[in-house]
Amino acid sequence: MTEESGHMSTAIVVGGGIIGLSCAIRLRQRGFRVVVIDEARPVKPASWGNAGHIAVEQVTPLATLDVIRSAPRRLFGLTGGPLDIGWRYVGTWLPWCLRYLRASLPLRAAQGHVALRAALAQAMPEWRAMVADLQAPDLLIENGHLMVWGEGHDPSAAMRTVMESDLGTASARLMDSAELAGVATRMGVRPLSGLVFSGTAQVRSPGAVLETMQAHLTLDPDCHRREQHVTRVASASGGVQVTLQDGSVLKGDKVILAAGVRTSDLVPGWRPPLIAERGYHIEWDHGGIPEGPPVVFADRSVIVSMFGTRMRASTFVEFTHADAPPDIRKWEWLEKTVEKAGLPVRSGFSRWVGCRPTLPDYLPAIGPVAGLPGVIAACGHQHLGLTLAPLTACIVSSIAAGDAVPDVARPFCPNRF
Ligand SMILES: Cc1cc2nc3c(=O)[nH]c(=O)nc-3n(C[C@H](O)[C@H](O)[C@H](O)COP(=O)(O)OP(=O)(O)OC[C@H]3O[C@@H](n4cnc5c(N)ncnc54)[C@H](O)[C@@H]3O)c2cc1C
Repeated sequence: MTEESGHMSTAIVVGGGIIGLSCAIRLRQRGFRVVVIDEARPVKPASWGNAGHIAVEQVTPLATLDVIRSAPRRLFGLTGGPLDIGWRYVGTWLPWCLRYLRASLPLRAAQGHVALRAALAQAMPEWRAMVADLQAPDLLIENGHLMVWGEGHDPSAAMRTVMESDLGTASARLMDSAELAGVATRMGVRPLSGLVFSGTAQVRSPGAVLETMQAHLTLDPDCHRREQHVTRVASASGGVQVTLQDGSVLKGDKVILAAGVRTSDLVPGWRPPLIAERGYHIEWDHGGIPEGPPVVFADRSVIVSMFGTRMRASTFVEFTHADAPPDIRKWEWLEKTVEKAGLPVRSGFSRWVGCRPTLPDYLPAIGPVAGLPGVIAACGHQHLGLTLAPLTACIVSSIAAGDAVPDVARPFCPNRF
């Protein structure tokens, strides 16, 4: 612990998304002086554009043979499904896919499941602790979520599969007719059947979480923010060195690599195989319907979340390059789907695309980077970065303060590839 030695150590956090800001808050609590460096990009990051769902039920990593087998029927180009592969960027994703295939073999997949399940079991308590420390309990809304089916094939087999699958600390039950009618009244859509999940949650809005964290850190005289692009991170004698685009060099005791999908560009000699798994959302004013939990439209693979007066529909898994131009057809598909479903739309749509930072085994990389003293990774959170941010911050801050890597983080070793 840094304060005990009488000297305040400095931790530099590269990346001001949900992972970086959460780490900064916990590092301050462990007595570090903190510098957060985040570049200003015209498009907001995944931490802002996500669906706001605390998804503790998603305990099975998407690296499994079942997911691979189902891929052809989910392809956007073939079936209008949520999965798309940017063939122009084959050089980017093919090496990743080969590793993904290996990680999907039964033994590795089972190990991944155990690891993710253990982490997600701690996600909700860590979120409760985070909003308490931020003195913003209303940021976390523990009202579960709904999954509904409205058309197409008989949903009973799909519903049974969900109910019989491992949902970690969450649980699911069938919706009764009053609950189905409630969805119809609130959302304007008439599901045929559905499930009610308990034990999951949503945030007031991803933007509100980032703003609250940022405001909390701004009030703290021992936390500083720099708006700059980091070009290089390295270990140096007795600490770490972070080079900025303007040529200046910051020195610190620890550096946390939390730059999302771009983390692999930071450290010469350590290049985690992160891919940009892009998702899209559209957002609009709903005109003041009563608040309610996120609704997953299972037959369209769309999640609809309410953030105050705004409604957001998110979907798509697009394997491409982080800087590839957006595929406008996906926003158009979402807009048509929302209108066809009859959701309340009282404004024009705003459009967003962003990158989930995903490693081939769909587990994050959290912990010290081997051979680089003082360098700690916090990246690769795929579909679960919002959910796992407070837990990640707790792990990172304790490692930075000199504690052993906790058991829950051992499977997330940054050097496993
Ligand atoms: C459509 C969609 C829906 C999602 N829904 C959910 C959900 O409901 N629940 C959930 O748990 N997760 C969800 N996710 C996943 C989640 O959003 C991500 O896992 C998470 O945001 C990753 O956070 P991050 O801080 O690692 O990365 P980012 O959010 O990408 O933040 C990284 C930051 O680092 C900065 N940066 C990058 N490079 C540099 C550099 N060289 N120098 C300085 N700064 C740099 C960037 O500007 C950025 O601000 C969703 C993702 C998408 C795309």
